[in-house]
Amino acid sequence: MASRIGGGFVCITKPKMRPESGHGRGGRARFQRVLWSCYPRGVTILEVINKTTPYFEKQGIESPRLTIELLLAHLLKKKRLQLYLEFERDLDETTLEALRGMVKRRVAGEPLQYITGEAEFCGLRLMVDKRVLIPRPETELLVETVVGRLKAESGERKTAVKIVDVGTGSGCIAIALAKRLPGAEITAVDVSREALDVARGNAALHQLEKNIRFLESDLLEVLPDSLRVDAIVSNPPYIADGEMAKLPKEVRDFEPARALTAGEDGLKVIRRLVMNARRFLSPSGFMALELGAGQRPAVEDFFGQQGYEVVEVVKDLQGHERVIVAQPRK
Ligand code: GLN
Repeated sequence: MASRIGGGFVCITKPKMRPESGHGRGGRARFQRVLWSCYPRGVTILEVINKTTPYFEKQGIESPRLTIELLLAHLLKKKRLQLYLEFERDLDETTLEALRGMVKRRVAGEPLQYITGEAEFCGLRLMVDKRVLIPRPETELLVETVVGRLKAESGERKTAVKIVDVGTGSGCIAIALAKRLPGAEITAVDVSREALDVARGNAALHQLEKNIRFLESDLLEVLPDSLRVDAIVSNPPYIADGEMAKLPKEVRDFEPARALTAGEDGLKVIRRLVMNARRFLSPSGFMALELGAGQRPAVEDFFGQQGYEVVEVVKDLQGHERVIVAQPRK
């Protein structure tokens, strides 16, 4: 099996002779070299794409052509669509060697974003690796919901809007909020020091170090007692322990389990968060959470027990109730 890994372009490693006309680059000496090299000149971007796409497809990789294009674009430091202008460009051995390694990792199940080290979230480029969850498109819905509410209220506010992002991971939510709400004072917490390193790096990448403070904290534990915020936002772990085995291997074997699972019912973290958040909310403050499919009724109950009222539920594109917003009852 191992020998088949990277097989998508193993076949193009066979020396492939093109008629050498004697003129042009290299001439006879080049022809000799080419004879012995693994990749003769003439392995183009397009050929690599055309060979690797069906290989990925056979291996069950989602979006096979897009995947190889994104890997190539990453390696060549180009935008994906720029590749289309350079389809006939020859790839050198160093690039091909690096590409083979990446193809092998992807076929072994590693998510594309960990291989390239980057992900896109709310139109922002973020650095990611196995220390953090890869930001998901559903989470953009959480950001938009929070921004919508805070912007609507902004006329009434005299001081800077204050937000806490709980379990910041890559920092994606805090960073996207900081970009959309200039002047907001954001506190981003995570229990994982490793994740905070990634998040700090991402804040620096977007020149937001001054807008976001990062704290190592198990949920809200280390927040100062005096803190009162307008919004507590979180995409907490919400997968039941028993569900973990059913997740695709990309998630199960590569993403940090601590960012995903939350006890037998998947609600352990949300429950604890809802129980402890109220004292940090300003009187008109709200809490906005991302949920797993089907969790809304249970979470609405937790909120009710803690004296909150659910004021908004937002469905994702699949129709799952994905974001819940609650406010302390007056
Ligand atoms: N806040 C980060 C995200 O939304 C991390 C969430 C997590 O680790 N559960 O992607």
